[in-house]
Amino acid sequence: MNKPILVDTHSHLDFDRFDADRDAVIQRAREENIGAIMTIGIDYKSSLAAIKIAEDYASVYAAVGVHPHDAKSMTDEQFAELKEMLAHPKVVAIGEVGLDYHYDYSPRHVQRRVFRQFLELSLERQMPLIIHTRESDEDVQHIIQSRSKKGWRGVFHCFAGDKKMAHNVIDLGFLLSFTGNITFKKSTSAHVMADIPLDKIMIETDSPFMAPVPHRGKRNEPAFVKFVAEKVAETKNITYEEVANFTTQNAIDLFGLVIDKKDVL
Ligand SMILES: [Zn+2]
Ligand SMILES: [Zn+2]
Repeated sequence: MNKPILVDTHSHLDFDRFDADRDAVIQRAREENIGAIMTIGIDYKSSLAAIKIAEDYASVYAAVGVHPHDAKSMTDEQFAELKEMLAHPKVVAIGEVGLDYHYDYSPRHVQRRVFRQFLELSLERQMPLIIHTRESDEDVQHIIQSRSKKGWRGVFHCFAGDKKMAHNVIDLGFLLSFTGNITFKKSTSAHVMADIPLDKIMIETDSPFMAPVPHRGKRNEPAFVKFVAEKVAETKNITYEEVANFTTQNAIDLFGLVIDKKDVL
């Protein structure tokens, strides 16, 4: 029987930690039946690099955006060019965008302004959003809610909020993506995930960060999304196949991915 196909909905394949072996990393993902990998831009340069990798590999798709860390350095010219990038056939989402009050690398008012710009763009182009939030959950939800209660499509990636936030985010129209942190002993996110309907869940690595157990502390890579899928199966007491079917279908539906069975084993 064919191995079930997974999608890694969030990675950063353009990061220099993959420079030495990017090709092998993508090959290993194929061997683990990862049918599609999304590589996510964090600024103008990284968005361009994400597109380049998506052009080189059939199974890789790109998202373009500016991470809150880098909001302060986004110019108007870059925003205009990022808009142009949305027309590329391998660009399937806007992201990652959002707020990060943990590091505060950009002033908060600048983070909020840039986040609003991308929210408007998402509505204008009807493109799904990939949202990053850290210690800024209230403001992120408030900004989304204040704009409009309808019409949002997207995902809160590396979801680490509580149940109340999870249900609010779902009500706004978003899915939740869980990462390697659900495999960590002290994490409460698996407990939150247990409560979320399968049609609202996606999985990701956020590689090179957040390596799941048993690779915790090492460099993460898309092949390891299988450990996240295993944890979802264990937590929800369903089979790995069911997890693969649901999460892959959710990613296909949200991002319009085309998974070629020939691309996997
Ligand atoms: Zn993020
Ligand atoms: Zn990320």
